[in-house]
Amino acid sequence: MSDMIALERRYAARNYDPVPIVLAQGRGAWLTDTAGNRYLDMLSAYSAVSFGHSHPRLVEALCRQAQRLAVTSRVFHNDRLPVFLARLCELTGMDRALPMNTGAEAVETAIKVARKWAHVTGRVPDGRAQIIVCEGNFHGRTSTIVGFSTVPQYRTGFGPFGGGFRVVPFGDPRALEAAIGPDTAAFLVEPVQGEAGVRVPPPGYLAECAAICRRRGVLLIADEVQTGLGRTGRLLACDHEGVRPDALVLGKALGGGLVPVSAFLAREDVLGVLQPGDHGSTFGGNPLGAAVGLEALELLVEEGLPRRAAELGDYLAGRLRAIDSPALREVRGLGLLVGLEIEASVATGAQFAAALRERGILTRETQGQVVRLAPALVIGREELDWALPRIEQALAAISPCEGARS
Ligand SMILES: *Cc1c(COP(=O)(O)O)cnc(C)c1O
Repeated sequence: MSDMIALERRYAARNYDPVPIVLAQGRGAWLTDTAGNRYLDMLSAYSAVSFGHSHPRLVEALCRQAQRLAVTSRVFHNDRLPVFLARLCELTGMDRALPMNTGAEAVETAIKVARKWAHVTGRVPDGRAQIIVCEGNFHGRTSTIVGFSTVPQYRTGFGPFGGGFRVVPFGDPRALEAAIGPDTAAFLVEPVQGEAGVRVPPPGYLAECAAICRRRGVLLIADEVQTGLGRTGRLLACDHEGVRPDALVLGKALGGGLVPVSAFLAREDVLGVLQPGDHGSTFGGNPLGAAVGLEALELLVEEGLPRRAAELGDYLAGRLRAIDSPALREVRGLGLLVGLEIEASVATGAQFAAALRERGILTRETQGQVVRLAPALVIGREELDWALPRIEQALAAISPCEGARS
């Protein structure tokens, strides 16, 4: 195991700083390392593994399609993509979809389409369109996207940036309204900010933003790469407020935890502005990704995973809120996207994550003090019951007096 760590340290770029565990196998909500230790995966690759590791139905769909036809490019039609996109549009209530691979690519697609839409509809002259984004946003890591990040490390040293973005506070509809000007094309927002530390906006926020966008002729683009596909207890996090955005970004779980599949979806009049040759991706829409994505959607519906996430999420958050620990500042979240904020005067999020790891639970801190608990949606209540006392023990271990006792 330390061989692998040494090899990676020698040859991999240092853009990640992994914890010293070498994972070798996964099944459902569980992971096993090369030393044979088992861990409950409470990160699920940031929701990419919402269906659990190696779900048999998804693996079967993958293998079947891989043996038949995997990659063709969009130069030709293939017999999987249309079925996948039809199902995706039907489920999300969108008219059209543009398949990509990673979340960042789908967000890039959203940015390009919003700008072209604003130009083609005569709202904003070409080259002037502005997109409003939120403080604490996370939409990926391309140079355009980090250009409007508010996390200094994501930007510093990577400029120059193109501009065309305006940042407003998250959770404040008035700030959005005030920021809209004649050049505003779109408002790009995460219904719950994951990377920013599982920040849930005040109730009604999204619905108010949707009303403002409608009134001012601005596109509401929901980035549901992390919150979508059942994670928060509804198919889309937007559904909690009955909001149908003008456009939607999906990714992560869409690939069933097996392949990268993302999509930008929108109304007819929005995606309709793209002409052949305007945009594309070599791997986007490949039959392998489409077959796995389609099976993932069927699984989501047949197994009622959004409802399951709602029930188990309520259960988990309820049990966590009942823990009396000086280390636990706040428990927040929606569905199975739960954030534990650790009291800064007691310990760091990293220390808590390490204490969890020692007790067989894998996750990671974000923004210093917040530790995310976002297991696969197929996790069972018994597995949560296995985790809960361990979480409590980990909190006790990082708490000053309790720590001294143990
Ligand atoms: C992870 C994430 C992205 C970027 O997805 P990648 O597949 O890593 O490019 C975009 N938006 C949100 C909300 C995310 O959580």
